[in-house]
Amino acid sequence: MTELARFYNVVGGQTCGSANGGWLASTNPYTGEDWAEVPRCGPDDARAAVEAAHRAFTKGPWASLSATSRGKLLRRLGDLIARDAEKLAAIEVRDNGKLLAEMAGQVRYIPEWFYYYGGLADKIEGGVLPTDKPNLFSYTKREPLGVVVAITPWNSPLLLLTWKLAPALAAGNTVVIKPSEFTSCSTLALMDLVKEAEFPDGVINTVTGYGSEVGAALVEHPLVAKVAFTGGDATGAAVYAAAARGIKHVTLELGGKSPNIIFADAKIDDAVKGAISGIFAASGQTCIAGSRLLVQRSVYDQVSAKLVALAKTARLGDPMAETTQVGPITTLPQRDKVLNYIDIARSEGATCLLGGKRPESPELAKGWFVEPTVFGDVSNSMRIAREEVFGPVLSIIPFEDDAEAIEIANDSLYGLAAGVWTSDIRRAFTMADKIRAGTVWVNTYRAVSFMAPFGGTKQSGIGRENGQAAMDEYLETKCVWINLAEGVPNPFVLR
Ligand code: NAD
Repeated sequence: MTELARFYNVVGGQTCGSANGGWLASTNPYTGEDWAEVPRCGPDDARAAVEAAHRAFTKGPWASLSATSRGKLLRRLGDLIARDAEKLAAIEVRDNGKLLAEMAGQVRYIPEWFYYYGGLADKIEGGVLPTDKPNLFSYTKREPLGVVVAITPWNSPLLLLTWKLAPALAAGNTVVIKPSEFTSCSTLALMDLVKEAEFPDGVINTVTGYGSEVGAALVEHPLVAKVAFTGGDATGAAVYAAAARGIKHVTLELGGKSPNIIFADAKIDDAVKGAISGIFAASGQTCIAGSRLLVQRSVYDQVSAKLVALAKTARLGDPMAETTQVGPITTLPQRDKVLNYIDIARSEGATCLLGGKRPESPELAKGWFVEPTVFGDVSNSMRIAREEVFGPVLSIIPFEDDAEAIEIANDSLYGLAAGVWTSDIRRAFTMADKIRAGTVWVNTYRAVSFMAPFGGTKQSGIGRENGQAAMDEYLETKCVWINLAEGVPNPFVLR
């Protein structure tokens, strides 16, 4: 048996395992074999990490560091990530099964968040207020919240962590990171760079392990001011309820069932490529997956045929190989969940136009693959159209006109993202207005940026990440009143 790589947590600047000495194996989804292990933490570790973060927030050098110096630290971390992009990408590919072709670009892009928010760190401004009260001067300050717990899922560990970490630090908070139990390794590798960048001890801490054993203890800790969570909606609801008991700030980035809408006037070949990238990129394991493809009835047969023909050419294989286009599903339970949804779709009467099973090639036998799968004749009331599958499974739903497209698009518990494919500019604007989603893409799909606010409506979440909007999620406003007059007027009335 090959020896497993070991990754450690960092708490208060100290490299550590778990208090109880337990370890948790991380499995490579392409080989099905364990390749690394991370500490299996519990409530004692959660407590130690929150206390370290709280000490750093209240007593350490971080609290008195100038905002400009804070920004420089963020930019330094960005530079180090850029330097080690290949190494970090390779860890994530082994841990998560995402394609190296995608990860290499993604990790090279991550530094931009640290540069952008590093730049914003010393542009956090309050204001002097006009006043209706003579002899009272008032101004506002924008202050960090305190200890932020950042909880991330398995599908894009470093990117989704960065969306929380960069603005939280720029605002002056300290952070405890709890990565997914399935994919913690790249986050722990990042901690080497945090040390090299010389962040003060305790500003960024990690605890790894199961949500029930360590995640819940973090959320419930009374010294935690905010929970920034990305994950499934059921977990999100539990985190929200636990945070509410302690009156904590929360942002939730949850699931989606995003409509990708092709009108008859669209450039059909572009729209078909957009549909493919919306659902088969990252093997469909993205919250923004365009898993409901709404197609205008007059081009329904044409779009379905072209889409199936193109999806059939997708090369499944080793995520490390540059030629691979579709990798494995990240976890075994998730692979089984995807296969179960395929059975459900069939039993509900959807027509399987492509895929619908594990691939037969012996080369892929050990990995957790599911073939790119396309269902036609889907009605929006079927479970396959209502529930998040989080895998390479597309449902094609026909519609007649704009009104019906809007009705179907909005008939969902979720509202994360949407795509619209049309050549009509008025239709583009109207659809962007009428669709309830945090992001609407027109004639493109899956574009995200450090500059552009991202988040969900309805059960897709609360709050926004990215862009200047994200800074508001990590700051609160203090109002200061200064009496400029001599003496205090009648103390029994409101001033
Ligand atoms: P998950 O909800 O199972 O786990 C997410 C994280 O929460 C993990 O780190 C887990 O350990 C932790 N956790 C579990 N129980 C907890 C508890 N009681 N208290 C605190 N933490 C707890 O999600 P997942 O399966 O890792 O990720 C997939 C889900 O994430 C999908 O539903 C997907 O849509 C969603 N997602 C959303 C976005 C977005 O930005 N909207 C992005 C990516 C993924």
